[in-house]
Amino acid sequence: MRKFIVTLVLVAFSASILPAQNRTASFSADKMRERVKRLSADDFDGRGPLTQGGLRAAEYIAHELKAAGVQPGNKKSYFQNVKLVGVKANPNSMLEINGPKGSDKFKFAEDFVATTGAQTAGVSIDSEIVFAGYGIDAPLYNWNDYKGGAADYRGKVLMIMVNDPPATQDEPGLFGGKGLTYYGRWTYKFEEAARRGAAGVILIHTDESAGYGWNVVRTSNGSWRYEIAREKGDNTPFLNMKSWVTNGTATKIMRAAGLNLDELRAKAKRRDFQPVNTGVKVKLSLESELKVADSPNVVGIVKGSDSKLRKQYVVYSGHWDHLGIGEANAKGDKIYNGAYDNASGVATLLGIAEALAKMPEKERPKRSMLFLFPTAEEQGLLGAEYYSHHPLVPLDKTIANINIDGVNFFGPVKDFMPLGAERSTISKALDAAAKERNLTLETDQRPEQGFFFRSDHFPFAKVGVPAVSLQHGDYFIKPLTGEARDFSSTYTAKHYHQVSDEYHDWWDMSAMIQEAEFALLSSTLGS
Ligand SMILES: [Zn+2]
Repeated sequence: MRKFIVTLVLVAFSASILPAQNRTASFSADKMRERVKRLSADDFDGRGPLTQGGLRAAEYIAHELKAAGVQPGNKKSYFQNVKLVGVKANPNSMLEINGPKGSDKFKFAEDFVATTGAQTAGVSIDSEIVFAGYGIDAPLYNWNDYKGGAADYRGKVLMIMVNDPPATQDEPGLFGGKGLTYYGRWTYKFEEAARRGAAGVILIHTDESAGYGWNVVRTSNGSWRYEIAREKGDNTPFLNMKSWVTNGTATKIMRAAGLNLDELRAKAKRRDFQPVNTGVKVKLSLESELKVADSPNVVGIVKGSDSKLRKQYVVYSGHWDHLGIGEANAKGDKIYNGAYDNASGVATLLGIAEALAKMPEKERPKRSMLFLFPTAEEQGLLGAEYYSHHPLVPLDKTIANINIDGVNFFGPVKDFMPLGAERSTISKALDAAAKERNLTLETDQRPEQGFFFRSDHFPFAKVGVPAVSLQHGDYFIKPLTGEARDFSSTYTAKHYHQVSDEYHDWWDMSAMIQEAEFALLSSTLGS
């Protein structure tokens, strides 16, 4: 099943003829600030799923929806519970390897991180490592790294490179050229290896291939990791060990096999690549703390004004969770506040929901709007994935999903970047909205980073709903000064998934309101 190849047509979005009303005045800068400050405050403990702080954050969102007059989205409730399993690996775990040319031991967090997909407290791995190149089986590109049949991979640990094989001069369109396809995502690598019966996967991190440093892998995987709890009778294959290693660790593992990692990498770029049995044994006994509990998606609805069209929905999504409490920084701060990621998006969606709920009904857009605040996005888009299989309004009546993950607070912009717009007719509505507001729409500036697969709109796209993730551009109307410029230019390197993603009083609410207004306008054109 190639459900991740997203080609979407359908849905008649057509621009309305009347000039669209500017609704900037429907948003309150004070409320926007109060909400974003509240959501990213220390007492929500970084909004980890299955934590008290996370639950308080979800309850706060529901409270704000209710106070604004937004209807509950799940019958009489603002919550849709998602059963999650959390595992937290013992940080003293050691990864041991033994090969024909040597042996070595590696330290958790420093050299590797690992988690189990077994949804149990203890697993032990004692297997042989196979170097499986990019770990891709893509008939579409006539590419298969899994040569030799499934039996060769059963019970093995596969060492795999992230991303797609690069396009070549002869084949510039191989794996979509410069852009990342789903085959390049680490989620795909885990899924495919599990389908082959592998016991585990070791992914090789490099800063260039990931677009961020080891610090991000470490903080994102070194603490609690969650999955949707498997239901009885669910036979989806899983991995006992899902791990990442630094480039240095991977090099040493291959050296213990008498192999050179760089040479293997070069070979893996070719179609005729053959997987390599390294003769290296890997041992890891992974003891984990385990918890199983519900974590809520928060959901509200504002009904549209047209008696027929109100049966159709635009779903706005913005995850409420972040990384919770984790490794402390040098100053002893261990709360991952996730102010930009994604308190800013939640505050923005609350602003839109409130603006709509307070409008007289006949002034509202014709279609209904569903506001979804998914849980556990940082854990692999879990809340949105769950919603896409347990939708609260029919998917065939869901005409679009607009996702917001990280809202501009630097200063008003001249451009936006709706990721994935080109994949469906939703682009028409966005183009019309941009024209109304004299804004430019950019296409994905860094397609190699695969951002289309990295937030909650992707599960919607997978089930056939036209979906975009609205990102702001960086063409600021006024030059940024001081803090705004520093934060914006160093975000990926210094603040992404770090404790320093915090709210500051210099945040410019007019920028957030501009984005909220644009997001609202984009969904109303075509009504
Ligand atoms: Zn996010």
